[in-house]
Amino acid sequence: MCGIVGYIGNQKASPILINGLIRLEYRGYDSAGISTVEKDSLSVMKDKGRVKNLYQLKGINDLEGTIGIAHTRWATHGKPSKENAHPHLDNSKTFSVVHNGIIENYNELKKFLTDHGYTFYSQTDTEIIPNLIHYYYKNESGDLRFLQAVKNACSDLKGSFAIEVICKDYPDNMIVVRKDSPLVIGKGETENYISSDIPAILSFTRNFYLLNDLEFAVLTRDNVSFYDKDLNIIKKNTQTIEWNASSAEKDGYEDFMLKEIYEQPTAIRETIGSKLNEFSKCEFEELKFTKEYLATINKIYIVACGTAMHAGLVGKNAIEKLCQIPTEVDIASEFRYRHPLVDDKTLCIFISQSGETADTIAALKLSKENGAKTIAISNVIGSSITREADYSIYTHAGPEIAVASTKAYTSQVMLITLLAIYFADILDRNTTTVNQLKTDIMNLPKKIDETLKLSEVVKDFSKKVYQEKDIFFLGRGIDEAVAREGSLKLKEISYIHSESYPAGELKHGPIALIENGITVVGIMTDKNLVEKTISNIQEVITRGAKTLVITNQNVDKNMFNMTIKIPEVNPFISPILSVIPLQLFSYYISKEKGLDVDKPRNLAKSVTVE
Ligand code: GLU
Repeated sequence: MCGIVGYIGNQKASPILINGLIRLEYRGYDSAGISTVEKDSLSVMKDKGRVKNLYQLKGINDLEGTIGIAHTRWATHGKPSKENAHPHLDNSKTFSVVHNGIIENYNELKKFLTDHGYTFYSQTDTEIIPNLIHYYYKNESGDLRFLQAVKNACSDLKGSFAIEVICKDYPDNMIVVRKDSPLVIGKGETENYISSDIPAILSFTRNFYLLNDLEFAVLTRDNVSFYDKDLNIIKKNTQTIEWNASSAEKDGYEDFMLKEIYEQPTAIRETIGSKLNEFSKCEFEELKFTKEYLATINKIYIVACGTAMHAGLVGKNAIEKLCQIPTEVDIASEFRYRHPLVDDKTLCIFISQSGETADTIAALKLSKENGAKTIAISNVIGSSITREADYSIYTHAGPEIAVASTKAYTSQVMLITLLAIYFADILDRNTTTVNQLKTDIMNLPKKIDETLKLSEVVKDFSKKVYQEKDIFFLGRGIDEAVAREGSLKLKEISYIHSESYPAGELKHGPIALIENGITVVGIMTDKNLVEKTISNIQEVITRGAKTLVITNQNVDKNMFNMTIKIPEVNPFISPILSVIPLQLFSYYISKEKGLDVDKPRNLAKSVTVE
């Protein structure tokens, strides 16, 4: 969560930092602040609320410093307030620090520092960091004094952190370090940039250095030096990112979410890339799996959180049906603590758009310790999860800025379906079904375009129900996985209470909640199950429900208040189409309610804390 930005160069730092914060606001945004190196002191300006409160602060335009750090906060310790906003200074005002993450042993360190005469002015865990650096700084000398003090302080920290530090005594340096929290370094000619993620600084550079856990970087205007955890010098090369800056702009759309919904045909096309050819085997260059190896696997786990977990449910269906390998889908925060039965015959697949999801990374580490092979699915090259996993494969959705995931979800569904095909090809299983699926995938982007044309119909229905208090989503089989995603999307951006249920499960409890006028959304794309689902929808209609049905089958439209007919498609990939009206449904309800679609309350795009 939270966003970190840094700048060191020859231009005034504050406008660049604020611009970066605006682009990172989707990561967390209960308060914001910046700190720059001014003539003889460190400036700190911060406030509660959105970044706009920060840039309206009196005096912010007078900051002259060309080195600075900045932060948007997603509070974990201490309520959102000006005092708790970052940056935090040490008592002597020598160091200014921004921090993303959680210092787990901060109580112990706070007591230690209090016993040594330090005073604390916030409730954050972060405030111990500048003071701890100062504590060590007093006893250091020599050229590496600043770095040594930061390093000593970090050795005491337990938990997760991405930290930027500036120091009054070193007006031409900035030090950054990370452990289990994201941070990238963008390289310019005579200036360098820091950010929690790539899109925020894409307009400045496409060349990035990636830091591993507990590696330190010392930045000057024209250089970046790297050190390992024992301060041995290490060498790093930049990686060039293909995304262009406009992919992180709204490009005329009202919101990023709408833009990203409309980018799905491209995202799917790019994710398929050259992996698929109708007449040959599916190719994943990054994976070198053999028939012998796949034959030893007795179980696959797909582990993820939120929307990515819903993509996993679709993946399970494809892997089990096409490859006949038992597959379980787990929520990462549960998996990591439930002693899952994982060993060297298990293959574990982890899905995270950002590649920085704390619970998913922890689940991955646990699986590796237990001997499993691990595959990471991420949208961000070089992200933490991809550096931990044995193998990494990428969705090519481009930067996803809206907090509620749309194109990343459908790209994840696409990629994991391709993975299932890759396995089935190697294992020579279900060749006829697999070949048909390959042909149907090639035609999918066109069908996504057709589905997007239904936008106005969805908008009309959304206008009718946007004031509802509860909405139910029902489906069977693969449609049930999509129902879950539709329900989550609605909760996230419209704040309407919603539930999703396997349609057949309704009678076992939830039907008690159905009363006159309640809205129920039914998803029916599986021709073998459509009659069954219709019967369940009929049960709620009898009890007074208003119904929206999303289907690719020929159903009696007179039965429902609204029927949205999507193109017919191979059932393995139907979620990529059926989710689109649901994404639009949530979007238009949120708009109708006048909410901030891209930045829903309490949520952050990249969940880097437990
Ligand atoms: N734990 C820190 C705080 O509550 C940092 C939170 C964040 O990552 O934004 O201030």
